[in-house]
Amino acid sequence: MKTYDHVIVGGGIIGASIAYHLACEDAGSVLLLERNELASAASSRAAGLILQVSTNTAKTALIRRTCSTIQTLSEELGEDVGFHAVGSLRLAASEARVRDLEDMAAEAECHGIPFEWLRAEDAEARVPWLDISNLSKVGFLPTDGYVDPYLLSMAYARAAGTRGVELRPRAAVEDIIVSDGAVAGVTTATERIECGSVIDAAGAWAALLSARAGFPLPMAPVRSHYWITKPDPAYGGDHPVVTMPDAGAYTRPDVGGLLLGIQERHSATFDARDLPGDPNEFSPTVGDAHWDRLAEAAAGVGRFFPGIHEAQFANYIAGLSAYTPDGKIVLGPVPNVRGFLAAAGCCGSGIALSAGIGAAIADLALGRDARFDIDAFRPDRFGTVDPFSLEFRDRCAASRANKSRGAKPAGPTV
Ligand SMILES: Cc1cc2nc3c(=O)[nH]c(=O)nc-3n(C[C@H](O)[C@H](O)[C@H](O)COP(=O)(O)OP(=O)(O)OC[C@H]3O[C@@H](n4cnc5c(N)ncnc54)[C@H](O)[C@@H]3O)c2cc1C
Repeated sequence: MKTYDHVIVGGGIIGASIAYHLACEDAGSVLLLERNELASAASSRAAGLILQVSTNTAKTALIRRTCSTIQTLSEELGEDVGFHAVGSLRLAASEARVRDLEDMAAEAECHGIPFEWLRAEDAEARVPWLDISNLSKVGFLPTDGYVDPYLLSMAYARAAGTRGVELRPRAAVEDIIVSDGAVAGVTTATERIECGSVIDAAGAWAALLSARAGFPLPMAPVRSHYWITKPDPAYGGDHPVVTMPDAGAYTRPDVGGLLLGIQERHSATFDARDLPGDPNEFSPTVGDAHWDRLAEAAAGVGRFFPGIHEAQFANYIAGLSAYTPDGKIVLGPVPNVRGFLAAAGCCGSGIALSAGIGAAIADLALGRDARFDIDAFRPDRFGTVDPFSLEFRDRCAASRANKSRGAKPAGPTV
């Protein structure tokens, strides 16, 4: 039987980033266990937007860390890790969204993130398909962009491996061993592994894993999805990411085409206990139902992107994001089990938050205070909940629907 200082469960971008940050801290022996292949679940399906400020201000410092780490990783690995520094245009067409944008401008200033107010004509010059007639205000953040989420996940993993982390794919954790109120190890189908700390980075399955130690994390799998058009030069090449909170939608360029993501009014949610272990065996969308969802959103999106009605969508990508009722992540010590840490419930921002989460967990695993203020993300902030119940899952789906629309998400009930 082998003993490690730290065991990470889950080899998506969050587990890989934690592995990298632990390795950077010389944290001792680290083992990452992934049931399938590395980055084969949500982390390879994401749109990869890295937007540094939002209405959820607690996230900004963590996302800033990801931006700087992308640069560090590129230098460390001597290669591009897939970041497109195209900037982001934030559109506001209503009073409420203008107020959000003004709050974001203040948040950007507070963190030293470049933010410019653009005239509508200047926005149109950057994004040729944009209809500016409905716009009240436009913000531009030149240092935002998007990343290839698979490349970034694998960059963390490779850099962690080079620094001595043992990465073990095709190894599913079956149980958490707890002894005298502290984590003592994990078991797989073939092994019992002892360790000093366990980090639950199991994505949509994280609540199932933590439930093995007596505390199901307050999060639920919710569908996220987007469509991609055929390549068309009329879209203007590698233009900025565009967010349209009035329509609950965003776009970014995608190899000559346009990627369009939509936050549904009522996202589908799933009971994590019903999910297969292999995400390739499951689709959150049945058949062609996604065309109906696109048609429902077309009128709202068409106010900004009239071309939606003629656009030739060639691809549809759907996956599971783990959401919480208040739209904030689940990060920190799991109650009542010393040495058990949670890094989950990323609320559709796990790519952008990845380095911030990795750095914070490395601090906690080494017995230090986290370098960021992560109190708002405490796993016990909702008290004890049943995250598999329909009532709880509906609250998580509602927070997904409101992600960019600015409506105040439901806070903790205790
Ligand atoms: C369509 C879509 C678009 C998105 N767009 C964006 C975006 O633009 N920007 C952004 O920041 N985020 C985006 N996201 C969210 C982002 O993809 C997630 O927040 C992020 O990938 C979460 O990473 P993770 O490592 O927690 O989860 P995952 O990548 O799902 O990894 C979890 C891993 O844990 C493994 N695992 C589970 N249980 C066990 C076990 N018992 N033993 C061993 N391994 C286990 C799984 O096999 C899986 O590989 C999007 C998500 C989707 C679905």
